[in-house]
Amino acid sequence: MSDRLFNFSAGPAILPEPVLETAKNALWTFGDTGIGILEHSHRGAAFTKVIEEAEANCRTLAGVGDDFDVLFLQGGASTQFFMIPMNWLGGGTANYINTGTWSKKAIKEAKLFGTANVAASSEDENFSYVPTAADLKWAPDAKYAHYTSNNTIAGTQFSYVPDSGEGVPLICDASSDIFSRPIDMKKHDMVYMGAQKNLGPSGLALVIVRKSMVESAKAELPSMLQYRIHAKAGSCFNTPPTFGIFIMGEVFKWILEQGGLSAIEEMNEAKAKLIYDFLGESKMFSGTARADSQSRMNVTFLASNEELNSQFIKEATAKGLPGLKGHRSVGGMRASIYNAFPHAGVVALVDFMKSFETKNS
Ligand SMILES: *Cc1c(COP(=O)(O)O)cnc(C)c1O
Repeated sequence: MSDRLFNFSAGPAILPEPVLETAKNALWTFGDTGIGILEHSHRGAAFTKVIEEAEANCRTLAGVGDDFDVLFLQGGASTQFFMIPMNWLGGGTANYINTGTWSKKAIKEAKLFGTANVAASSEDENFSYVPTAADLKWAPDAKYAHYTSNNTIAGTQFSYVPDSGEGVPLICDASSDIFSRPIDMKKHDMVYMGAQKNLGPSGLALVIVRKSMVESAKAELPSMLQYRIHAKAGSCFNTPPTFGIFIMGEVFKWILEQGGLSAIEEMNEAKAKLIYDFLGESKMFSGTARADSQSRMNVTFLASNEELNSQFIKEATAKGLPGLKGHRSVGGMRASIYNAFPHAGVVALVDFMKSFETKNS
């Protein structure tokens, strides 16, 4: 790891080292073009190849064909929160599953364009669990249903794909667990994410959306806010975030080199298990997420009192384990261990937790 730390930041987050090495060189001159990747025209041959390759590798990972569009958009995941209802809600009703801060923000935006029916919510327990399929109370005749597959702040994750019902498109905010495990796109009509957790730089959003949905969207909207326009222009309606797309493309290649999504899932499960197993046996630390809802990406946990939480974060940071402070709505600690987070970093964290517990009890 040389001079780089095990960075537990929730986002922007750690990226694969080979990708950073490639980017470092590409900044100066991209391949043998004599022009840096930041300086290439988005309409030139070099960048066209970059975006086409990124799209093709994304399709391979997601397992989607020509019936889906792959779009590289701007404004992060938060822009999708309003673009979705703006394009498809039209005064109607949409179903939302409320599993955390990000779901709530999506619901707030939807209300600007129609009715957001909350099909189930875990807010009663500070979002520490994911409602079961049996808990979902769908409103009839919904334009779409929306859920957040991994709740970055609460440290919970869906272990099933909600069934939105016949003819109701299912939309997923997968910002913090995209391509961390196989994804069944047959059950989804749109999956979107901000890039900065698992895929690249902040500001860029990836949208994988069924073509039939794009065609059914409202047309009387500003051009930049229409999926249709971006799809038709191959994400180059205006100047796209070229550097972000380049990095994302390199991350896709890296995932494929790791053996694809099943291999990545196995690695992620092994990493998360190390921490959850220790939390299960520790007398000082405990996880905040219900056992059946634990996230493989963001592990949230508490020490036995507030003072120990602060001391733990301070000492971990000093030891070269930064980014462990939990979100203020949950408190305590959060270890974000996305795809690119090394196994050795998780081992270092658990070793540190063990020695901290021994020293302070
Ligand atoms: C980080 C995050 C967002 C917000 O992403 P931005 O790119 O900052 O808009 C939305 N949803 C989830 C699940 C997230 O983790």
